Amino acid sequence: MKALVYDGPNKVSVSEVPDAKIERPTDVVVRITSTNICGSDLHMFEGRTDMETGRVFGHENLGEVIEVGDAVEHVKVGDWVCLPFNVSCGYCKNCEKGLTGACLAMNPGTAGAAYGFAGMGPFEGGQAEYLRVPHADFNCLKLPEDAQEKESDYVMLSDIFPTGYHAVEMACVKPGESVVIYGAGPVGLMAALSAFIRGASKVMVVDRFADRLKLAEQIGAVAIDFSKGDAVEQVLHNTDGQGADKGCECVGYQAHDPQGEEQPNITMNNLVASVRATGRIGVVGVFVPADPKAKDKLEKKGQIAFDWGKFWTKGLQLGTGQANVKAYNRQLRELIHVGKAKPSFIVSHELPLSDAPMAYQHFNARDSGWTKVILKPAAVSTPSRKKKATASARR
Ligand code: NAD
Ligand code: ZN
Repeated sequence: MKALVYDGPNKVSVSEVPDAKIERPTDVVVRITSTNICGSDLHMFEGRTDMETGRVFGHENLGEVIEVGDAVEHVKVGDWVCLPFNVSCGYCKNCEKGLTGACLAMNPGTAGAAYGFAGMGPFEGGQAEYLRVPHADFNCLKLPEDAQEKESDYVMLSDIFPTGYHAVEMACVKPGESVVIYGAGPVGLMAALSAFIRGASKVMVVDRFADRLKLAEQIGAVAIDFSKGDAVEQVLHNTDGQGADKGCECVGYQAHDPQGEEQPNITMNNLVASVRATGRIGVVGVFVPADPKAKDKLEKKGQIAFDWGKFWTKGLQLGTGQANVKAYNRQLRELIHVGKAKPSFIVSHELPLSDAPMAYQHFNARDSGWTKVILKPAAVSTPSRKKKATASARR
């Protein structure tokens, strides 16, 4: 099958790789019709992780089930499914508590596994014609009859919509509150959407790229351009000098200063300064335990100079980590189904898999107009691969 393969820093190609297949009786194979490029792929693409060459990227996947293992009971051939980026077992101590982003079984020795991801287990990614899904009865989110009609909305359930929601959940956003979100990338925009879903009265989104800020405004957020003035001052100005009730970090360790130079502590310290005393902060932007290729001495060791004294004095609280997609994807699916949420508003490009290398370059450069890319590998399923279609009820 064809797949997008990592060839080394800033190099990816579409290559022939072995077909995804059933390896355990609890697996299914999905024909991938939509698979997004994510900001998380870019850390690997740029060579800022220990991703092995030859691996297939892609953890934001949606498609049609074409083969099921003998022990799969709930998922049927012909079902349209969206796959959480977390690969989880469903029975470990963390999964039992709904913390599937920290599954203990799928990547032993670490908490959390994912498709096509550095340090998150051997699972190949879905920027490919087919994807093997382990523990399919647990991991597949079945989609309703409008699966294909709203495919560009539903594919956001694989990661960024639940991840944005996870940020506001960790920040404990309540109706009527004000929220500041650092980052207007796909994740930040989904956090803004989620803040509105939870009833926020004012949502401020900080970035320096006009096309991304425009999307934030499109859903009713206040756009804050930190290249045109200090982010913290602008947030304070928008909140009568008080600071926002809650805050979200949707940028991560490759955060930039207004000139575009990397400064890994900038968003965390801006959050401490622009969230009011006793507020909460949800951090979904990725920070890594070590970043040997960083320029910053602390960042090499996965550390940042954090305004801890100010954080403590203000009595702030912090939540961090990978999103537990399964904790939210079912409810968010229903909002899409009934038309109350339309996360596809961020999509700028829907492209064939063959265009993926070009799309990586543009998305990585944050080129204007490249806000979110959906790849469409869409292999035509052959009758020999596709068993009799018997799509099953989604609940
Ligand atoms: P992205 O790189 O497209 O967006 C990041 C945005 O942050 C960019 O628009 C950039 O201009 C902006 N930015 C940079 N420095 C800033 C600053 N100082 N202040 C405000 N904005 C700044 O990425 P994305 O797809 O939106 O992902 C964002 C982060 O979330 C990444 O670190 C990604 O790895 C992470 N992520 C985490 C999870 C999770 O489960 N925790 C899931 C998906 C993605
Ligand atoms: Zn992602």
